Amino acid sequence: MNDLYPAERLRRVAAAVRDHGLGALLLTPGPDLRYVTGYDAKQLERLTCLAVPADGDPFLVVPLLELRAAQASPAGELGVELVAWGETEDPFGVISGRLGNPGSLGLSDRMWAMFSLRFADAFPGARHVLASAVLSPIRVRKSAAEVEALREAGAAIDRVHARVPGWLRPGVTEREVGTKIAEAILAEGHVSADFTIVGSGPNAASPHHEVSDRILGAGDVVVVDIGGTMPSGYCSDCTRTYAVGTPPTEFTEYYGVLRVAQDAACEAAAPGVPAQTVDAAARDVIAAAGYGEWFIHRTGHGIGLESHEEPYIVSGNATPLEPGMAFSVEPGIYPGPHGARIEDIVVCTEGGRERLNNAPRDLVIV
Ligand code: ZN
Ligand code: ZN
Ligand code: ZN
Repeated sequence: MNDLYPAERLRRVAAAVRDHGLGALLLTPGPDLRYVTGYDAKQLERLTCLAVPADGDPFLVVPLLELRAAQASPAGELGVELVAWGETEDPFGVISGRLGNPGSLGLSDRMWAMFSLRFADAFPGARHVLASAVLSPIRVRKSAAEVEALREAGAAIDRVHARVPGWLRPGVTEREVGTKIAEAILAEGHVSADFTIVGSGPNAASPHHEVSDRILGAGDVVVVDIGGTMPSGYCSDCTRTYAVGTPPTEFTEYYGVLRVAQDAACEAAAPGVPAQTVDAAARDVIAAAGYGEWFIHRTGHGIGLESHEEPYIVSGNATPLEPGMAFSVEPGIYPGPHGARIEDIVVCTEGGRERLNNAPRDLVIV
C-alpha cells in the first residue's frame, strides 16, 4: 500500500458503516472498491465483492481464477481475508452465510443489476441503500496524495492540449483529430483515453458531441474537451476552445464573456463557499452579458477516481466547499452555429483554490 491507497482507509470505512447504522457495505469492482482497497479489479460476470461489515472483519470474495490477481493487488497487502469461490459454488450464498441477517446493506453505486438483484434475493428483508451514502463524504475530500495524483493528471492533459493546435487545420475531420488526441492522451501518461470531444462549427454548440466526419473549414470554432485515466486511477478532464483562422465577430465577443465568467467562478472557490455560489459566479457574468439562455449546463462536477462524482457545482447544491474537494469549472455558451467552453479542474485549498490545468485560456487561433 502507499500514500494514495492507505491501509488505514478500510478501518475508517468500517467505522463509517457503523456510524451510518448499516449492517455492511458490499463493493463490487469499480471506483468504490479501488478507493477502499487499491484493487483495480475487473468487471466480470463472476462476482468479486468486498464485504465491510459494521461488526467483524471485512473479507474479499473472489472467483478462484482471480485469486492470484487479488493476492498480487494492493488488496493482498491489507490483511483482508480472501475468500475464493469455485465455478460451481454460489458466491452470494457464501456472503450471506458469513454476514447473517443484516438489517441494511450499502451496495456500490456502480454495481451491476445482475449482482444487486442476486443480493436482494440472498438478503430478503434487508434494506438496500447506495454505498455512496457512506463513501461519498469520505471520497469527496481528497488527501494530499490524491491531490498530487490529480495534479499529475492535469499536467498530462495540459501536454495534450499543447499539441492540439498542430492538428487543427482546414481539410481534416473531427474524427482524425480525435484519433490523434486519443493517441496523445496515452503517450502523455494516461492508461486510457476516456473521451475525446472535438466539436467543430455547429457541433461546438452541442456540449457532449464526440467526433464526426465533419471536415474542419476556415473560420471554424472547435471545442476540444478531453480526458483520460492515469495509472494512479485518477482522471483528467480539460476543455479548450480553438479557432481555425479568424472566427466570427459575435463569437469573439461571447468568448471574452466566457473567459471572464470562468475566471470569476474559479476565484469564487474557497473553503466554506457553497458549491452553488461557484456556479452563480459564472452564471451571473454570462447572464449579465445577455447570454444566460445559452449556458445550458451546470458549471462543474467533482473528479477523482471517477471523471464525474461529487461535489456537483450546480444551483441547489449548498454543500460548503472544503479543502481537498476537486471539481471542474467549465461554463459554456452555445448559441449556435458555434459555441465555446473553458474547463479547468480546481482543488479547494486551505487558502482558496489551485487550478490543476494551466494551458492558455485565451482563444488560440491556429
Ligand atoms: Zn461534460
Ligand atoms: Zn470536460
Ligand atoms: Zn468536465
